[in-house]
Amino acid sequence: MNKIKFLGTAGGRFVVARQVRKSGGTWLTLDDTNVLIDPGPGSLIRILSSKPKLNPRDLDGIILSHRHLDHSNDVNIIIEAMTKGGWDKKGVLFTPKDTLEGDPVVLKYIRNYLEKIEIIKENESYKIGNISFETPIKHIHHGVEGYGFNIFGKNNSISIITDTKYFNGLESYYNGDLLVLNVVFYKNKLDLEHFDIKDAEKIISTNKPKLTVLSHFGMTMVKAKPWKIAEKLSNKLGVKIIAASDGMEIDLDHYTK
Ligand SMILES: [Zn+2]
Repeated sequence: MNKIKFLGTAGGRFVVARQVRKSGGTWLTLDDTNVLIDPGPGSLIRILSSKPKLNPRDLDGIILSHRHLDHSNDVNIIIEAMTKGGWDKKGVLFTPKDTLEGDPVVLKYIRNYLEKIEIIKENESYKIGNISFETPIKHIHHGVEGYGFNIFGKNNSISIITDTKYFNGLESYYNGDLLVLNVVFYKNKLDLEHFDIKDAEKIISTNKPKLTVLSHFGMTMVKAKPWKIAEKLSNKLGVKIIAASDGMEIDLDHYTK
């Protein structure tokens, strides 16, 4: 089965620190390839307690969008779990350069456990197993180097727009049939470096993906009940929009080309 599973849907410091929502990242199984995207705090536990079961040993790789803790906290332990503590050297880590340098997110002794580390850059494409993905533009509006992804399987295209502030033309880079949007704020009153619902509306109404999934919720979103917001926006725009919940799985075979 081709699926995307939201191990966690937390975004923003308070929701993550208090685990109001879980912060385990996103597991993708597509064309017999397993990839974990942004393993935040608790990712390993979320994988091991997942129903139906997931096994970190089955991962082919890990992708980090950027170095912030809510996206990368569990990366080292996931590498250990994937590689049997380094005894079975395998897997590829795709990550921005600043996760490896200076104050590194990926511990040096763990790096050897991997088959390969690929540093992701703007406007490049990468292969892992039977799937490929692009990093169309650098997200510079988020304090650190970050990327969103267009992921391609044989019959699927998935766009994941990770943390950034909205910038003009952003939506033109992410045209997947399925769109995952990190919407931290209901209203971005303080003009911080994240999307709010207005930004989401702009992107969805332009791109009209077959399905949009809102995720990565901060406190203002959690309080506003994301499923209600998604339903309202869906009715307004006439396209299918849902809010992710912790552990939610989407069958990707329903959203093929
Ligand atoms: Zn971030």
